[in-house]
Amino acid sequence: MKQIQCKMFGHDFHVTRDVTFHVKEYTCVNCHKQLTTNSNGSLIELTPKFKEINDILERIHHKRMMKKINNKKATNKKEVLIPA
Ligand SMILES: [Zn+2]
Repeated sequence: MKQIQCKMFGHDFHVTRDVTFHVKEYTCVNCHKQLTTNSNGSLIELTPKFKEINDILERIHHKRMMKKINNKKATNKKEVLIPA
């Protein structure tokens, strides 16, 4: 029954995962169809292959973010460690 609503009014997609700043995964709240952003920035169906790609992208993205945070921490430490 829920799929009929999607056919008539279109899917109601909500972001279910932030992979990177630009790549996200969307799920339709009615029929649970999943979409993702591809490298061109357009929406495509989330196939197992793309899920795998997103997993890798997310890992790389996380690593970069952690590096940034760690760098910030390092500089902060330097500022705090002023010899008395
Ligand atoms: Zn739908």
